Amino acid sequence: MRTTLVDPIPIVGAITQSLVPDVVISPGNGSSQVADKVRQARMGLRPAEGFAVFFVDDFFEAASRGVDLGADGPDLIISVPTEHEPSTTSADSFTAQVRDHSRTLPVAIVGFGGGITMDTAKAVSNLLTNGGTADRYQGWDLLPMPGVHKIGVPTISGTGAESSRTCVLSNARTGAKLGMNSKFSLFNSIVLDPTFSESVPRDQYFYTGMDTYMHCIESLGGRFRNVFADALSRESLRLVRSVFNSDDMMSFESRMDLMTASCLGGMAIAGSYVGLIHPMSAALSIVLGTHHGVANCIAMRAMKDYYPTEYEEFWAMADRQGVEIPTVNGASLTQSELDGLVASTLVHERPLSNALGLDFGRRLGSGRLMELFALL
Ligand code: NAD
Ligand code: ZN
Repeated sequence: MRTTLVDPIPIVGAITQSLVPDVVISPGNGSSQVADKVRQARMGLRPAEGFAVFFVDDFFEAASRGVDLGADGPDLIISVPTEHEPSTTSADSFTAQVRDHSRTLPVAIVGFGGGITMDTAKAVSNLLTNGGTADRYQGWDLLPMPGVHKIGVPTISGTGAESSRTCVLSNARTGAKLGMNSKFSLFNSIVLDPTFSESVPRDQYFYTGMDTYMHCIESLGGRFRNVFADALSRESLRLVRSVFNSDDMMSFESRMDLMTASCLGGMAIAGSYVGLIHPMSAALSIVLGTHHGVANCIAMRAMKDYYPTEYEEFWAMADRQGVEIPTVNGASLTQSELDGLVASTLVHERPLSNALGLDFGRRLGSGRLMELFALL
């Protein structure tokens, strides 16, 4: 694939506005680091005057794995269900729940979990200060105000949600899966501790971990690139490859490497664009409800012509780790499902232009896309 190195955005501004200002790497000690950060946010307030909100992935509640993040009397702990990915509706309803808890704003919002939980925390933080409903802010740079101070803690690695400048929400009314892309969607602090990802099931670990692989190959294979994002993507890819080509992808060392790769990949994608895999994956999420990580892996079945080297590499890594990639029985999708999948793919003009050029429509008509979905 031909690639051109261009800066679509002013590089200095883009970089300084696209990085989480405070990254703490604390293997084995993450909980107390989070508790410290919440304590700092409360500084100067008596306990009764300030409260924090903890969004916690429902796995930790269901498994009775109480992790002590320093929640105190007036704080609100919300278990985030992970059966469905976040939507504009779920973000609005969590925001209402926080408002019902108190008429004042929280001093901090913690997102402890995977991409679903971290994106929920970011969206609620933004909505509490900006007002209105979530659908108003889906797009680029539509948030006028910073949100409530937010702290991100990934418990599974790969999406880069901990370091990206977006929180992705699906919108049933418009059919779009689109983020609040804004410097205000960055966490103020993140805490990385691979102890938290020890309990992730193997398949899920692979699907989510591969998200960062997809972000990086799509960014590096794109037309709109900058040297900073390229450098981050290359290092992230090096780490991902070492994890998924190793004998134990879930050793403590591998989990540390994947957590780092995810964080670097999220930073890279904040200053660049994805390519063809993500639009098709987003369409699978919208039309069939397939979750993001596994949807990316399923979409990879159709990528032989677009990312030929990475296609071979991806299937070799899945094979090596003994991970099954499910199928959506693409050949038996109904016409109405195919129409929905095509429409939900083609709305993603920026990534498609990045992958295929500004005239992507000539190379990727609905007929071609239907052929690709049939491979899944
Ligand atoms: P997830 O939040 O979907 O969680 C996947 C599963 O793993 C859930 O069942 C969850 O309960 C479980 N889990 C999480 N941590 C665990 C642990 N330590 N032990 C056991 N189980 C655990 O996972 P994800 O793949 O990280 O997130 C996907 C979401 O991220 C999607 O909604 C996607 O749109 C979003 N996303 C956001 C960005 C961004 O930049 N903001 C980028 C990519 C994807
Ligand atoms: Zn992704």
